[in-house]
Amino acid sequence: MLPNVNQFFDSLPKKQCSRCGSVMEELSECYTHVCDECSSHAVFPLAFKPEPKYSPKAG
Ligand SMILES: [Zn+2]
Repeated sequence: MLPNVNQFFDSLPKKQCSRCGSVMEELSECYTHVCDECSSHAVFPLAFKPEPKYSPKAG
């Protein structure tokens, strides 16, 4: 017996903006991790700075 299709899609996790966490609509041809609002003023990973408290040798 086939599962209920509507129930299946309803159980899928929503795609969320990785910056503000707001739920985005799925974009079929565009992989983006942030919503339009965030991507319009996105900070690129090149500007990424590790947090000072990050210490790989600790523990
Ligand atoms: Zn966002």
